[in-house]
Amino acid sequence: EDKPERQTIRILAPEVIAQIAAGEVIQRPVNAVKELLDNALDAGATQIAITVKDGGKKLLTIQDNGHGIQEEDLVLLCKRHATSKLQSYEDLTGLGTLGFRGEALASISCMAHLSVITRHAGSPAGLKASYRNTELEPSGPTICAAQPGTTFVIQDLYYNLEQRRKALGTGVEEYARILDLVGKSAISRPDVAFSCKKQGERRPDLHTMAGASRRDNVRIVYGAATAQSLLQVSCRLPSEGDAPQSLEGAAAFSAEGCASCLHFSGRRTICLIKVNGHLVQCRPLEHSLEAEYHSHARLKPFIFLDIKVPGDQVDVNIHPTKHEVILLHQEEMIQAISDALQKVHSGEVQCSCSHAIT
Ligand code: ADP
Ligand code: MG
Repeated sequence: EDKPERQTIRILAPEVIAQIAAGEVIQRPVNAVKELLDNALDAGATQIAITVKDGGKKLLTIQDNGHGIQEEDLVLLCKRHATSKLQSYEDLTGLGTLGFRGEALASISCMAHLSVITRHAGSPAGLKASYRNTELEPSGPTICAAQPGTTFVIQDLYYNLEQRRKALGTGVEEYARILDLVGKSAISRPDVAFSCKKQGERRPDLHTMAGASRRDNVRIVYGAATAQSLLQVSCRLPSEGDAPQSLEGAAAFSAEGCASCLHFSGRRTICLIKVNGHLVQCRPLEHSLEAEYHSHARLKPFIFLDIKVPGDQVDVNIHPTKHEVILLHQEEMIQAISDALQKVHSGEVQCSCSHAIT
């Protein structure tokens, strides 16, 4: 008889568990870039430079001028659930930093050759350390010359995960994803200078200046026509009062941003939603904003919204790969924002796009 042989249940080896988890957190090179960008921003960086080879499969470096890492922290740096950002579960509410799980570096160190060069503010020299499977290499950190700040170097991503490697797009495709992310990050954070280039090229493919305006960065990333079409949008609930505060059972938020005018249509819809500092996905909101434009000849808009809500009204889904956000009182918020957008489009404010000027 062909009865399959009885398999006994076994618990997977820790390295196998770690690799599976790592593959979930970092599904593509762009996910690694996102995590390292968030870390750099959390470290207070005002300049972030990214270098990419073969779409990030061969090499990714991310250099920041943030506060750096202290020598005594290097041992734990890539350990799973090691973080300087969260102590108790309660800290998750009203979280100020972008990362908090202490999983990104652990994951990357399990499927790439990861090293860091860091110089802590006030330290005379830099330190270089390499990691493998969450552990600092036994040789330990070595002293080196370095600018203040931190540079992560990721080489041969997925060297030990053939399946994952095969599932990736070409270098060109993966690089396009990275460039897209860096562009969106630059629009989200015009106070920070971003650059992104291919290894060996002199000219970056994307370069923004610290302290530029959001419109400047939209121009750099999406072009002049998009930048010129932008109208300011803002709204809040309750409509009176200062900082949004949770009144019992009522929606409270503020939203500030910009959206394209009705003369403009892009190649595709771009909708950037920031909630309490995180770029997130909020599909119901995106759909209803898009619907505002679709009622006008299916325009493809550009929209950026910076939304602030009290910490207890947002659930930034804490699963590492999901950037979907769930908001309390979502319906009322969406209604208020849609109304504000409609009001802007109804002609109270003039856009400066070429169609309006003629
Ligand atoms: P998390 O961001 O969730 O804390 P990570 O694995 O991304 O977890 O990073 C672990 C820790 O390493 C961070 O909490 C932070 O203390 C430190 N760290 C990571 N990247 C940087 C950086 N660019 N500059 C300074 N410290 C950093
Ligand atoms: Mg992080």
